[in-house]
Amino acid sequence: MTPATGAEPSPEWCCVAFKSAFDAAGERDFAILVDRFLEGYAFILQHRALEPDDPGPQNHPGPISTVSEIHIHYCPWCGRSLQDFYRARLAEMVRPGLKILEP
Ligand SMILES: [Zn+2]
Repeated sequence: MTPATGAEPSPEWCCVAFKSAFDAAGERDFAILVDRFLEGYAFILQHRALEPDDPGPQNHPGPISTVSEIHIHYCPWCGRSLQDFYRARLAEMVRPGLKILEP
């Protein structure tokens, strides 16, 4: 993940670090996802431990989470309210196929 180089305002992104994390979705790293949630949309901070084509550890004695997610409300880098900043383009930020699938 690219370190935050500042929180310069942008018409499209709250900060450069957030854009980098949004673009990193699907790779082995932290990433930002947006998905439908309840009556609106949720911002999700996702971490993938493995590259997409990596089967992961085999015969491990216990369960391992290779993808973890947590819902966030504020940008971890610049602190802006994500719902407020991205209100006008929430729907177009949803990218199917990147979220952990519900069993
Ligand atoms: Zn930000």
